[in-house]
Amino acid sequence: MDLRHGFDIARHVRTIPDYPKPGILFRDITTLFADPLGFRACIDELVWPFLRSEIDYVAGIEARGFILGGAVAHEVGRGFIPIRKKGKLPARVIGQDYELEYGVDTVEIHADAIGPGDRVLLVDDLIATGGTANAAIELIRKSGGEVIAAAFVIDLPDLGGSERLRAADVAVHTLVAFEGE
Ligand code: AMP
Repeated sequence: MDLRHGFDIARHVRTIPDYPKPGILFRDITTLFADPLGFRACIDELVWPFLRSEIDYVAGIEARGFILGGAVAHEVGRGFIPIRKKGKLPARVIGQDYELEYGVDTVEIHADAIGPGDRVLLVDDLIATGGTANAAIELIRKSGGEVIAAAFVIDLPDLGGSERLRAADVAVHTLVAFEGE
């Protein structure tokens, strides 16, 4: 099933070398999202495997995961839950630390957002080491929810994140892959 209708998703991702620091190839999806065919192709392909799945919520990771996750939630007819950087959510939260190359970061979710047994589809733009997604999965699981899958536009398989998630029993759905970091 060619939901892209021949549209080349990878070619519309702009690569910025040495951003935000030397050695990183930043995969900029703003050029893909700005194209009406590109944005639709991404949303259609992200939701396709889950159209027959039972989903209670779509969760998106700040910030590009909000753009995708909101549209995915609308498509599957379910509510959207934001997973945010520390200190941004107004009500009571639960948090999860994760390792960065230098230091530690934290993501948070509202403590009452997900209830026991809720089935959650997690969405972000890109998976690299999997640290961010893994922390988001921990939050959903701590809340009593079940992660039915994690969906990303871009996989950087050399960084091992998608394998890491699969090893943690999470189904992973990605649309395009780039070699390297
Ligand atoms: P990670 O936790 O290593 O899987 O990194 C994933 C998060 O960092 C996602 O929210 C991405 O948006 C961002 N990210 C990591 N590496 C890149 C990259 N090379 N280009 C663009 N975004 C990246």
